[in-house]
Amino acid sequence: MRYPPVCLLRQSNILLIRSFMLLFLSCVTIRIKLCFSSIPYTLKALPLDGHFNFDEVHLAAKDFGNRYQFLPVAVLHPKSVSDIATTIEHIWQMGPHSELTIAARGHGHSLQGQSQAHRGVVINMQSLRGPYMQVYRGNSPYVDVSGGELWIDILHQSLKFGLAPKSWTDYLHLTVGGTLSNAGISGQAFRHGPQISNVHQLEVVTGKGEVVTCSEKQNSDLFHGVLGGLGQFGIITRARILLEPAPDKVKWIRVLYSDFSTFAIDQEKLISAAENTFDYIEGFVIINRTGLLNNWRSSFNPQDPVQASQFKSDGRTLFCLEVAKYFHLDEIDVVNQEIENYMSQLSYITSTLFLSEVTYVEFLDRVHVSEVMLRSKGLWEVPHPWLNLFIPKSKIQDFADEVFGNILKETSNGPILIYPVNKSKWNNRTSAVIPEEDIFYLVAFLTSAVPSSTGTDGLEHILTQNKKILEFCETAHLGVKQYLPHYTTQEEWRAHFGPRWEVFVKRKSAYDPLAVLAPGQRIFQKAITSS
Ligand code: FAD
Repeated sequence: MRYPPVCLLRQSNILLIRSFMLLFLSCVTIRIKLCFSSIPYTLKALPLDGHFNFDEVHLAAKDFGNRYQFLPVAVLHPKSVSDIATTIEHIWQMGPHSELTIAARGHGHSLQGQSQAHRGVVINMQSLRGPYMQVYRGNSPYVDVSGGELWIDILHQSLKFGLAPKSWTDYLHLTVGGTLSNAGISGQAFRHGPQISNVHQLEVVTGKGEVVTCSEKQNSDLFHGVLGGLGQFGIITRARILLEPAPDKVKWIRVLYSDFSTFAIDQEKLISAAENTFDYIEGFVIINRTGLLNNWRSSFNPQDPVQASQFKSDGRTLFCLEVAKYFHLDEIDVVNQEIENYMSQLSYITSTLFLSEVTYVEFLDRVHVSEVMLRSKGLWEVPHPWLNLFIPKSKIQDFADEVFGNILKETSNGPILIYPVNKSKWNNRTSAVIPEEDIFYLVAFLTSAVPSSTGTDGLEHILTQNKKILEFCETAHLGVKQYLPHYTTQEEWRAHFGPRWEVFVKRKSAYDPLAVLAPGQRIFQKAITSS
């Protein structure tokens, strides 16, 4: 018997192995393709009150940040909570063999793709709005709302009963589920805490498709986990939000400081005051702005027009304290006296006192006015490389010296908010991550980039500035925490959560063990195994 030469045997074996490999690979590819293309059919077969859209999915791959785009395979427009539960349960049942993930999309006002799902399913939470909004009066009034409800609509509905939520964001065209997944902070937070401190009960659909009602007393681990939980443990389908009697009007005041430490001392004095001072306390940094006070005149009146007209902002870095006092029409005289009294205790530049009187709705919906204006100029849908930081009180001066005195001396490319809040108003059992100290500041760099600019108003330049700020915080050990956090590695997430990371991971394995939910946060990745 003649044996083929060894080299020929090797060659034919290699060919055989190669053919097998090719066959195997093409089978796998076909299988994956089949699996993938069969997804719409399995989803289409689900019994729903609402519907899936497999074609118009591009909108779900966009957000306010305008920098990240991940196309989903389908968008669910749910009409009921059971639509959401059925879809999640279906994907849970598919197990780790399916790569499908699910992102709830509130109003898509995330900055880095947090409400997107690459080749997954996006749930358009706003479809769930409507029939659920119910206001309950009594000693502790509240409103039950859908997770996809916009805060502006909650305001209008609760005002019909003379009531309103206690804690807000600066901009109200955001959804309940979206802000409760972060924290929800504005100038009322020093007194009432963030929005996550003003919720009594939630209804949540977990990553296994279970519908769970939770509160401080019932399923409290899920309740605390979901609040500030970046969408990781469940989808909020209903929230019970605390209300208070709504005022009629608002006295809205701005004053300027040229010295940061005087500004910060006054802000801290106001938020720590034993008696109620203002109802809203914020502030912002003004860098190198010309004709600043003239611009304010369209909506604010100077207390002393002559002195105010002589004030020059050009080339300077200034700090603006912004406060507001709510009142009912019959209280106007008392309120004016109170304001005079509070203001007399502050050390602002006297010629820069500006006042305005607006309705409560005008005050709360103030950012929407800017939105309409920016949209009309095509300046709303531009890249927004925002950076939001929580900074401990003991380090805010170091931060201000370096960032406003050095890194951002020339221009800011958008508003920079800066105001302190009291940690005692935050519930440390929630998932929100904040600094250790009793008082910490929110500093929000709300930048807009000019598309395709390579100058100081371009995206690259702003991102480099953000990086410089973060590097300074790191090297100076400021104990800073990111708000609306964004990281690319799990190591960074672990560092962000610090000692709370273990609880976060434990909650993930309890409520979303396959890591199906909110993939756009990039904290956990769904582990996919081949069958
Ligand atoms: P989305 O961007 O759609 O979702 C955000 C995250 O929450 C995603 O991970 C998403 O999957 C998840 N999610 C959405 N809905 C649900 C749900 N029902 N259940 C569970 N998870 C869900 N924040 C403040 O705190 N204070 C402010 O003053 C403030 N002002 C802002 C002003 C503007 C102009 C913008 C654009 C944002 C502002 N934000 C502010 C940030 C805002 O709170 C977050 O961007 C928030 O995520 C946006 O809400 P959204 O409804 O669009 O959520």
